[in-house]
Parts: sequence; structure tokens; C-alpha cells
Amino acid sequence: MGAIELEHDEFITVCPSCHQRVSAQVEARNHGFPDSNFRIMRHYIARCRVCFQTLILEVEKDDEKPWTREANCVWPTPDRTLAEAIPEDLRREHSEARSCFNAKAYTATVVMVRRTLEGVCAEHGINKKPLHRAFQEMESTGLIEGRLLEWAQELRLLGNEGAHYTGKLVARQDAADAIALAEALMDYLYVFSAQFKEFKMRRHAAKQPAGSWPSAAPVANDASASAQEGPAR
Ligand SMILES: [Zn+2]
Repeated sequence: MGAIELEHDEFITVCPSCHQRVSAQVEARNHGFPDSNFRIMRHYIARCRVCFQTLILEVEKDDEKPWTREANCVWPTPDRTLAEAIPEDLRREHSEARSCFNAKAYTATVVMVRRTLEGVCAEHGINKKPLHRAFQEMESTGLIEGRLLEWAQELRLLGNEGAHYTGKLVARQDAADAIALAEALMDYLYVFSAQFKEFKMRRHAAKQPAGSWPSAAPVANDASASAQEGPAR
């Protein structure tokens, strides 16, 4: 307190473009106003000193502490973190696919995505070759459904195109879609399927008051349930 605090013109942050801790030069700033949690946040438009990417940085002003040199980069949005429920080996494969994408190596990206998909099948004990047979088995065992099978097959074809010399380059947008679809597929298999299973089990348990309702009883639809006098639910 007392001494005039000089604001920094330079912040340290992790640049989502060049993926390293960098120094970023401030080019414009706003005055901090309290957010909905009464925290005073300040935002800066800055430029990465390494790759020259424009960044929006966020710094919290805490009255107890001097201004910090560390800033959070809030734009461009950093890569999303894959859920812990996804096996580590698959997350590693996928992270390599992302590294290829960030390095603008789009052909290598779709080849890595295809490798990740092979890993997804292997992690489910499905080792059928070629890959399209493995996907068909994923569908026949109920692991994935129609739309997801279609996605997976499209990603496989794109990966095949990447893996063989055709003289054609893989487009950036196709590589970006491949990354996004692979993430959606892994989220579906490892996160949402498990979450939905738990949800169903909870709902089932809640409907079953202390053994009075046989678990094998058919589920009555709403009309017949109100027409007949069933046990208390
Ligand atoms: Zn950078």
C-alpha cells in the first residue's frame, strides 16, 4: 500500500499457439471491474514474443497482493483437456494428433487419429483387422450406434487417405474435424456411456423401495401405470 504500483507491460503466460511459457507484450488494457464473484479482473490484449500470436490475457487484482506478472491466457482458447476416464494411452495418442495439427501437419494428424481409433478398438478387446471390421464389431456389441459408426468409418477413410501417397493434401478443416470427432467418440465411449449407466442405475434404485418391486418386472407405461393399482413407488 502507499507506493504507486506500476502496471506491467509484459506478462508471462502459456501461449496456446506456440505451446510454451512465453513473455507477452501488452498492446492494450482495460480497467478492472469486479466480476460476478466480486473479483477484480483485468484484461490485456498482448502479443506473444515468440510466435507473435495475439493473446487476450486475464489477471486478477487482489488488494492484498501486488500485481502479478503471471497472466492467464483466455483467448485463443487452450486445447481442451481430455477426461481422466479416457485411458492414458489413448490420451497420449490423441495429444500427438493435436501436436501434428498445431504444427500444421494435417496429413500426419489424420494418420494419428486413425491410430487412436485402432487404440480405442483394442482397449475394448476388439482386435479384428482391418479396422472397418473392428468398427462393425463395436456396433454389433452395442458399444457404438449408427451415427457414431458412420463417423468412425469416415475418420478411418480419411486416415487411410493420409497413410497412402495420393499426391493430395489433407485439408486443415478435415484434420480439425478428425480431431473433434475422435474426441466426441472417446467422450461417448468413456465418459457419457459410463455416466448414463450410473444415471440409469440410480434411477432404477430410486424406483425400488426395499425389495417390494421385483427387479425383473416389466416397466409399465404411464397409461397402464395409472390404470392399475401398483405397489407404492
Ligand atoms: Zn506464442
